[in-house]
Amino acid sequence: MAALTKNDIKITRTESSKISSIDFNNLAFGQVFSDHMLICDYKNGKWHTPEIVPYSPITLDPSAKIFHYGQSIFEGMKAYKDDKEDVFMFRPMDNVRRLNVSAKRLSIPELPEAYFMEGLKALLEVEKDWIPTAEGSSLYIRPFIFASGKGFHASPADEYKFIICAAPSGAYFSGKVNVLIEETYSRSANGGVGFAKAGGNYAGQFYPTQLAKAKGYQQVIWTDDTTHEFIEEAGAMNVFIRINDTLLTSPVSDRILDGITRKSILQLAEAEGLKTDVRKVKVSELVEASRNGSLKEMFGAGTAAVISPISGFGFRGEDFIIPEQDASFASKLKNRIVAIQTNKVEDPFGWRVKL
Ligand code: PMP
Repeated sequence: MAALTKNDIKITRTESSKISSIDFNNLAFGQVFSDHMLICDYKNGKWHTPEIVPYSPITLDPSAKIFHYGQSIFEGMKAYKDDKEDVFMFRPMDNVRRLNVSAKRLSIPELPEAYFMEGLKALLEVEKDWIPTAEGSSLYIRPFIFASGKGFHASPADEYKFIICAAPSGAYFSGKVNVLIEETYSRSANGGVGFAKAGGNYAGQFYPTQLAKAKGYQQVIWTDDTTHEFIEEAGAMNVFIRINDTLLTSPVSDRILDGITRKSILQLAEAEGLKTDVRKVKVSELVEASRNGSLKEMFGAGTAAVISPISGFGFRGEDFIIPEQDASFASKLKNRIVAIQTNKVEDPFGWRVKL
């Protein structure tokens, strides 16, 4: 069989576009969805040709294994449009590869890369008008796979659905966040699924995050599950800490997602001559750096917010404030990445992919 190309993808267009009812200048994050979605079935031992159909609810059997055993993985990425109406994606091959890393860990059949890439390109061509252009906004894209196969037996399903839908979105977080260092609950464990974008990882975060919010924090800093001594992630983002002029971040592991923003920041920082050090960072080191004034910045890094600056952290009942920096690494790096993503500057890294 010849490789799939986007011309193989059947397109059924909606008869009633919602686009004129959307206020593109006032978009929340991931709340409204574009007119179409890509859908692709795994049945009889293989992935079938994807189709583009009007965005709509889907019907599932109550025994579908997604509901009982949580076989579900996803990706998050964005598309941007420049002032010439050209459309760009950011490192999309990294998303397809990571989706398949997650698939393998959750016993979900891997998706041929062309189904993802050609499917995504076909969907973006259909949904081009849904890509917002206001500062900080983009078309947030959510590719996901879940077990649609039936049966209560606790074993991998025999049928799956791969779907891509898209949500025109404004900026994700506004302002700086105050975080709580978590020592009771864990996001992930050695040998677990923390490195996968598995739906259940997020469900398990909600309760500890609600507890932190009730105490006045916006987000949780996850520490390692064994000792709770080492800083691992910031909510659903990787975390960076600037001590003096060095930008620190933990190495990825079984427990930490290999974030695309994280690795882009590391590459960019090195290219800009900033010092980086990928190593484990102890909570005690953070506290000490805060006390002696060497802690200059801390921020989360992820697709949705790109960089989300942290204003302070709570630890064992004490609150630590991170002072404002005049020329912060966070704003310098964020501006550079967003400029590359939105085709405002050269892309020496080859990250940007034109539709
Ligand atoms: N860690 C977790 C747990 C996440 O969910 C995300 C968001 N995908 C990230 C880190 C950041 O990853 P990326 O930069 O690829 O969005």
